[in-house]
Amino acid sequence: MTHVYDLHCHSTASDGAFSPEAVVIRAQQQGVTSLALTDHDTVAGLAAANKTADSIGLNFIPGIELSSNWQNHCLHIVGLGIDPTYQPLVEITDHLQTLRYERSEKMAAKLEKKRIFGALEAVQAAAGDGMITRTHFADFLLSQKHVDTHQEAFDRYLGQGKSAFVPTIWPEVEEVVKWITGAGGIAVIAHPLRYKLSAKYIKRLLAEFKLYGGKGIEVITSRISQDEIRLITKYAQEYELAGSVGSDFHNDTNPYVELGLIAQLPANITPVWELLS
Ligand code: AMP
Ligand code: MN
Ligand code: MN
Ligand code: MN
Repeated sequence: MTHVYDLHCHSTASDGAFSPEAVVIRAQQQGVTSLALTDHDTVAGLAAANKTADSIGLNFIPGIELSSNWQNHCLHIVGLGIDPTYQPLVEITDHLQTLRYERSEKMAAKLEKKRIFGALEAVQAAAGDGMITRTHFADFLLSQKHVDTHQEAFDRYLGQGKSAFVPTIWPEVEEVVKWITGAGGIAVIAHPLRYKLSAKYIKRLLAEFKLYGGKGIEVITSRISQDEIRLITKYAQEYELAGSVGSDFHNDTNPYVELGLIAQLPANITPVWELLS
């Protein structure tokens, strides 16, 4: 039997459209045999996803995607194979939930200055018990016809430096890697080319990340080019990082971003699942 890994996706516990149970079932329907659910800054969806995965015979890897700060860039660090009950991790996710709640209040206030009302109520209702994210704000702006596309919501209001952007003090990468490692997990740099770091900076980051105990880098994500795969593979080899693969699936609005619909990991790097016991 061939194994199909997807080690990065989202549920309603953060900014995904499907419940943890539904994500697991959809993953199996898409041919995935090993799935990690990696919601932003929360482990709230893992128990339900794990239970569903067990009941349908899918290999489940508990994960998280933590927001972090490195040199004034917000980097996403995926943790794979974490113990969701590890106390420091529970505490930091509680803190991040508060931080995200307070950020949403400030973002809504900024939107009100632009005469856009009702954002806070809408995003709170949409997020429910889950993490409030900028995706929820983009959904609101789109549904109220303030923008025509999700991308426009980020370009005009939500992106860094735009009118409703609120700078957030995320935990340092070093701490985030320690929490993941402390929870028995493997720390992986998510979508490394999305941060607009120069080659020199990426190399600095990888060297530091290794020093902190980071073990992996996401080589394969949705809609990645062969040139990008080659570049990240080179980094993985140079810094002896294991390669991860993940669709970063959120919802079913884009047919090119789907669970399991991702390229194969190049053969010349260590797959991150070899590090997962
Ligand atoms: P947050 O962690 O609350 O700042 O929200 C970040 C999330 O917003 C990311 O995980 C993406 O799902 C989404 N996002 C960020 N930038 C964009 C963009 N330019 N277009 C669409 N979605 C974006
Ligand atoms: Mn997201
Ligand atoms: Mn991300
Ligand atoms: Mn993600």
